[in-house]
Amino acid sequence: MKTIRLKPRKEESILRRHPWVFSGAIATLPDDVEEGELVKVVSASGDALGTGHYQIGSIAVRLLQFGDADIPFDFFKQRLAAAFRMRLALGLIRDDNNCFRLVHGEGDFLPGLVIDVYGDTAVVQAHSPGMHFERMKIARALTEISEARIRNVYYKSETTLPYKAQLDPQNDYLIGKFDGNIAVENGLRFNIDWLRGQKTGFFVDQRENRSLLEKFAKGRTVLNMFCYTGGFSVYAMRGGALKVDSVDSSSKAAALTDANIRLNFPDDSRHTTHAVDAFKFLADMGKDAYDLIILDPPAFAKHRSALKNGLIGYRKLNAKAFEKIKSGGILFTFSCSQVVTREMFRLAVFTAAAQSGRKVRILYQLTQPADHPVDISHPEGEYLKGLVLYVE
Ligand code: SAH
Repeated sequence: MKTIRLKPRKEESILRRHPWVFSGAIATLPDDVEEGELVKVVSASGDALGTGHYQIGSIAVRLLQFGDADIPFDFFKQRLAAAFRMRLALGLIRDDNNCFRLVHGEGDFLPGLVIDVYGDTAVVQAHSPGMHFERMKIARALTEISEARIRNVYYKSETTLPYKAQLDPQNDYLIGKFDGNIAVENGLRFNIDWLRGQKTGFFVDQRENRSLLEKFAKGRTVLNMFCYTGGFSVYAMRGGALKVDSVDSSSKAAALTDANIRLNFPDDSRHTTHAVDAFKFLADMGKDAYDLIILDPPAFAKHRSALKNGLIGYRKLNAKAFEKIKSGGILFTFSCSQVVTREMFRLAVFTAAAQSGRKVRILYQLTQPADHPVDISHPEGEYLKGLVLYVE
């Protein structure tokens, strides 16, 4: 295995178990090292720091293991089985709940890898060339965790791998085939479209927040903005909402929402989907039309360079909701931008509240659920932030 040597003192974050080696920390890089290759990382004085996948870019190595031990032959099986045991212990695997995140990258000590499970199908996303090259090993290991009963493994990395690496990953089944796509979350059924949908097909990270929303839905008029698959809408329907309107600018998303409402509440006239732009919908709608609004937009700031505009986007969006929501209304507002910290998001929402002149109280501060764990050494793993607000 090739060895990468760091500059003096650049080992400190690794000794604190942060799994990334930045390119600027590297003193010597072997000429012939290839993207995706397993490499050993040593300090300036030659001490073994860990083993990981090399890649071209600002994060040059994602460490899979610390110290000088070799990577065992059944490494993926061990890590995946540990991830599965944790989800089992969290009570996420039940007759009435069979979708969950099995691997959340660094949070499961598998940097560069995301796996969501929908019933007997696992959807695998590689974010690093190293994980791309290991995909068959990962797929086989998934089917070997006997308790997980995974029969199909779909690989979906066309949009997550670095484009410049020219890996030409094809979205396809690595093992098994399509054998149905209905998953159950807290007793509600969802069509998961991993073939054409965004990310792995469903946002499992909002599961607990959707459950909380259900508790507030009774007798309320609900607006679910950026609805995608209609997750929040389906929970609001079960919670006893008077009326639910779902909005998404994508007609594909609107169709998915309609299908999920029909699946759970056939012939129920309380729900309507609107395939329009969220800002246009908010501008056109009347005041006091809704007393429960959900704002769960896509990441407005995908990179640090977009932070300023992203925060302006969150402020404007929330200001519109404050302007229109009925008195005594409840607003569920989210940001999934990793570069937007909890404090920044809260400040953007506070600014919107101040501008609107409404009296606003924070009822809950929300985050990502336990199947999206954050390695305490890797705070970058935290991304989802939410506020539940009472608006007078
Ligand atoms: N709340 C969803 C996830 C939202 S993902 C859930 O619980 O699953 C973000 C969604 O916003 C996507 O479906 C995307 O199509 C939609 N979207 C992006 N820009 C939009 C806009 N300007 N107006 C309305 N919808 C938009």
